[in-house]
Order: sequence, then structure tokens, then C-alpha cells
Amino acid sequence: MLANILIIDDEKEICLYLEELLTENNFLVFTAENGMKGLEIIEKEKIDIVLADIVMPKIDGIALTRSIKEMNPDIPVILMTAYSSIEYAVESMKAGAADFISKPFKINYALFIIKKVLETKRLGEKAKKTEYYKELSNIDALTSIHNYRFFKEILDNEIKRHKRYERNLSFLLIDIDNFKSINDTYGHLTGDIVLKQIAGLLSKTVRSCDFLARYGGEEFAVILPETSENEALMLGKRIVSIIENHKFKSGEGEPIIKISVTVGLTSFPRNASNLQQLIDRADQALYKGKRLGKNRITVF
Ligand code: GH3
Ligand code: MG
Ligand code: MG
Repeated sequence: MLANILIIDDEKEICLYLEELLTENNFLVFTAENGMKGLEIIEKEKIDIVLADIVMPKIDGIALTRSIKEMNPDIPVILMTAYSSIEYAVESMKAGAADFISKPFKINYALFIIKKVLETKRLGEKAKKTEYYKELSNIDALTSIHNYRFFKEILDNEIKRHKRYERNLSFLLIDIDNFKSINDTYGHLTGDIVLKQIAGLLSKTVRSCDFLARYGGEEFAVILPETSENEALMLGKRIVSIIENHKFKSGEGEPIIKISVTVGLTSFPRNASNLQQLIDRADQALYKGKRLGKNRITVF
């Protein structure tokens, strides 16, 4: 079954004609001779799409569209009109109609419009679902690495674990240098591409036991379990050098000059005794690095 379709038209012949046509095309068809009856059917049945006449006694197609949208905004309404005038089309679209078909219509054209509207609805539902699952997930949508929320959770756990066993943990905060000017020079889209590329380079550089996340707009964080300050410093230096030497390209494939990052490093318990201190001090180290000229790693 393609979909459940409700036809609302006061002309019996039109209802019968469309019912036959749409049943042949794998629709489950419901019909109503006026708007009120149509609304009753929508209340009782699972209707996927409505095809309604625009000119009907009592409640016309435009008012009907408004009522259907109030009842269930997810049911698309296609209006049929003998008045193919633009004002009617505009009015019906304003009321929330998904599209309109002018009478008399060709069968194939009507079918095409119905299928197109259903496809749009299906795509909208899919997009909503994807958005929903992204919100629930631990992954940053742009860069596909872990997001801030998950990072906070992991860091909290790791600190507790390292405290309990008196182990070293290091933390890197990475901020792209002059990223605003990259956006300004090459456009925001290229800025996004650079963010993705940097996330990819970082993923390849950190060890499998490390935890990499997008910390903010153009900031990344790396949690390094069981890692001393010295070991973390070596990894941080490697990150700075890999980014500095990478040949970045814009969306159009043009080379982008000079991309670098500044990294702030703190280690637990050496120079921080809790989560907030670890983050704040990495941030302070990072800003010191910015003041000293960027493209470097600075230890708190
Ligand atoms: P600094 O070297 O001091 O870090 O300078 P900066 O320009 O990198 O820092 P600033 O904080 O002034 O600007 C950061 C910019 O990052 C501003 C913002 O528009 C941009 N940005 C943040 N998130 C995104 C994103 O998701 N995509 C793109 N393209 N740009 C972003
Ligand atoms: Mg920043
Ligand atoms: Mg920056």
C-alpha cells in the first residue's frame, strides 16, 4: 500500500473517478462529500494525505485546510481547483496546503503531484528523525567526533577513576588560530571544511586510548588517560606540527595558507586537583600561548 488518501469533494463523480484511479495505483482510498465528514474520517482513520476540492458548500477547501492543519499538521493537503487563478493558489498555500491541482486535470499529472507531496512528507519525517537521533547521540554532527556533552561525562568519570587509583591524567585544549579570518577570507563553508579536516587529523594523531571531542566552535579537547605531563607534551607538540604542515584546501580546492593551532596542557594531579581546575588551567595555558604568538603548546 502506497498511502492512505482521503478525497473530499462534493461532486460524487469526481470522488468515484479518483477513488478508482488511486485504488488502481495502490492507494487505500477514503472519500467524503463535504469538509465536516472529511474531518470526522481524519479523526478516526490514519490518513497520510488529503486531496480536497477548493470550492464546496459550507466549508471551503481553504478553511478545511486550516482545520486539518490544526488537527494534525503532518497531514499534507492538496487542493483541487477549477479556478486556476494565482490568487487561489496563493491563498491555499498560505492556509497550509502542500500543493494544488487545477481542474480539469490529467491523471498522470495528479498522480505525479500526489506522489511528490508524499515524498516531501517522507523526507521531512526522515530529516526530523535524523535530527532527533543526533540530539540523543554523543557525536558532533559537523565533525563526527565526540561532542561536548559526552566529553564532560567521560572527563568526570576519568577524573574519579584516576583519583581513586592515584594515576596521572593529562588534558589538552586545542584552539584554531585566527579562525575568524579563515571564515572571513574563504567563507563559512570552507571554515566548516577546515574544522572537519582538523578533526580528522586529530583523530589520526591521538592514541586509541585517548578521548577526542569537539569542545566548542573551533576548539577541541583531548583527554589522555594514564599520561604524564611530559608524554602529553610530546603528543601536543606533534599535533601542533602536523596541523602547521598540513596542506589545507578550500571547498573549491584552492590552497589555504597558514593554519595553525594553539594548545593548552594541564595534568592531573600535578597542576589540577579537580575537573574544573583542569579545564580552567588548560584554558589559561592556551591563552598564554595565544599571547606568546600562537602555533605552540603551553603548559600551565
Ligand atoms: P584566536 O587565534 O585568538 O583563537 O582567534 P580566532 O579568530 O580563532 O578566535 P575567535 O574566538 O575570535 O573566533 C572564532 C571563530 O570561529 C568565530 C566563529 O565564527 C568561528 N566558528 C565557530 N564555530 C564555527 C563553525 O562551526 N563553523 C565555522 N565555519 N566557523 C565557526
Ligand atoms: Mg576559540
Ligand atoms: Mg581560535
